[in-house]
Amino acid sequence: MSRPTVWHPFTQHALEPTMRRIAATDGAYLIDEGGNRILDAISSWWVITHGHRHPRIMAAIRAATEAYDQIIFAEFSHEPAEQLAEGLIAIAPPGLKHVFYSDSGSTSVEVAVKMALGYFHNRCEPRDRIVVVEGSYHGDTIGTMSTGERGVFNAAYEPLLFGVDRLPFPAAGFEQEALDRFEAYCRGGRVAALLIEPLVLGAGGMKIYAPSVLAGLKDIARRYGCLLIADEVMTGWGRTGTMFACEQAGIAPDILCTSKGLTGGAVPLAATLSTAEIFDAHWSTDRRKTFFHSSSYTANPIACAAAVANLEVWRSEPVLERIRDVEAAHRRHLARFEGDPRFIDIRQAGTIAALDLAVPAGGYLAEAGPRMRRLFRERGVLIRPLGNVVYLMPPYCVTAQELGHAYDAIDEVATIVLECTG
Ligand SMILES: *Cc1c(COP(=O)(O)O)cnc(C)c1O
Repeated sequence: MSRPTVWHPFTQHALEPTMRRIAATDGAYLIDEGGNRILDAISSWWVITHGHRHPRIMAAIRAATEAYDQIIFAEFSHEPAEQLAEGLIAIAPPGLKHVFYSDSGSTSVEVAVKMALGYFHNRCEPRDRIVVVEGSYHGDTIGTMSTGERGVFNAAYEPLLFGVDRLPFPAAGFEQEALDRFEAYCRGGRVAALLIEPLVLGAGGMKIYAPSVLAGLKDIARRYGCLLIADEVMTGWGRTGTMFACEQAGIAPDILCTSKGLTGGAVPLAATLSTAEIFDAHWSTDRRKTFFHSSSYTANPIACAAAVANLEVWRSEPVLERIRDVEAAHRRHLARFEGDPRFIDIRQAGTIAALDLAVPAGGYLAEAGPRMRRLFRERGVLIRPLGNVVYLMPPYCVTAQELGHAYDAIDEVATIVLECTG
């Protein structure tokens, strides 16, 4: 078999020899070179919020290219970065006062962990443990893999991953166990921060937990002087029904990571927001207390301009109403699967809907993955199940009818796949 020049992410090229070439994007659709439209039911890996190529965001990008390309962000600044920082602080949970830019979700989390450790280091408090929730995903760099769930995805790198303390997933009925475990870790005195995906564990299988758990964890963190890092990379920008998922728990984290929907999904950008206390722990005439982090493309002006335009979209368009419509459409369509023995654990958080295919445990699923994706593609829908978890996370411009098409595809594909396992 010939080998491709382009090495694609999370792709076993020996099993998936061809990639469908996309020629254009439009609203809720990818359009291939043959002009076929594919409903992007997972927002191109969760980044597209309003829809592909929102006119206002694309216009802002075009305008920015008339003035800027990359500008070194040490020693210098620019209006899009400053405007965006002001805008982010205005909509973020209270207490977040500073914005540090990077370029992906993973780096925003790396930055957050470094801020937390730097905070305690600069205050000469020896705290070095990070607490995470079992089943979490925080990115694919060595640092973020260390904080995420271990498995076949990172077995090769295991010797280099650092140790973290893990809380059991706070499933309904098991909330107190997670809270108690966190408090026990905190009593040890070495916990610097709890790093957590608020309300929904995304890549871990769209696992949803109660907002009250997040509030309880925050309360414990506060009592023991630990920081809470909210990884809102997936949950931010309306995904779970509110601008940030933390809002539903009524909490403000000490550090907040945002990336995917920050530019509406048009171009890469990330931001890590921190409280004044964390910034102030790095504020010193002693250069050794500097926050030592940068990436070449920090605060790219074109990306910042796209994000400023995204904020304007949120201000001037009925985005939350669209989100309510998507939520209602999910609810109506999911109802048809209630009591259906082919599915277990039908669930929804805002614009995210998920249901687990009732397949026997074992190696079968690994084989079924590419096949299910192909069956969905043949039906004109982009859906990528996570193991046996079939989920939809569409852009907010999707119509109830288009979602209906995605649910029809799930209905058909589930039958085909389950027949073959029996
Ligand atoms: C996607 C994701 C990341 C990593 O973001 P990248 O931009 O892919 O590096 C981190 N945390 C969460 C919760 C995510 O969903």
